[in-house]
Amino acid sequence: MSRIVRTPEIVGGQARIDSTRIRVADVIRLKKVGWKDIDIAKVLLITLEDIKAAEEYYKDHKDEVDRLIEFEDILWEKGFIRKFLKMCECSDLNEVEDKIKKGELLEHPTWEEYIKALSCKDSLERKGFSYKKVEKIIKCSNCNLFKKIGEVCEDVTKLIPDVIDTDERCPECGSKMRVWII
Ligand SMILES: [Zn+2]
Repeated sequence: MSRIVRTPEIVGGQARIDSTRIRVADVIRLKKVGWKDIDIAKVLLITLEDIKAAEEYYKDHKDEVDRLIEFEDILWEKGFIRKFLKMCECSDLNEVEDKIKKGELLEHPTWEEYIKALSCKDSLERKGFSYKKVEKIIKCSNCNLFKKIGEVCEDVTKLIPDVIDTDERCPECGSKMRVWII
């Protein structure tokens, strides 16, 4: 019996290790940044066999897992920059830079956070997204295929994605597509 299961009511139906809420994507994300199996097992409270099973699943479902990781990166990067701007009381990163130059931001941000925000901005732009705009994405709930379908507004304070069901079907697997406002 496979250690990897997918059930719609747990972790949004994403592939996960049986009897846990740990997703294949969680394991693969750590593998991609060079974590050792033993450390992954310790941190995620899973076994080495679970990790092997996740890797096997990944081999056969590379697109599904890679797309999910990319999509979650986009959500995370947008969220990070927006929280950072809120903390600095700025509406964009240029304003943060100006404030730093004028010595108005001595406590926050730390340089590390500012540099992380800049690298998130670059990463988003490489993927065709903008940190400043609230954007509309359509995403398959099964194979995680997604595409940006438009910009909604310029609102850097919006943090939580709105998810709306649609009647559209995924061009790749035929599953239901959902709209995300991010
Ligand atoms: Zn699909």
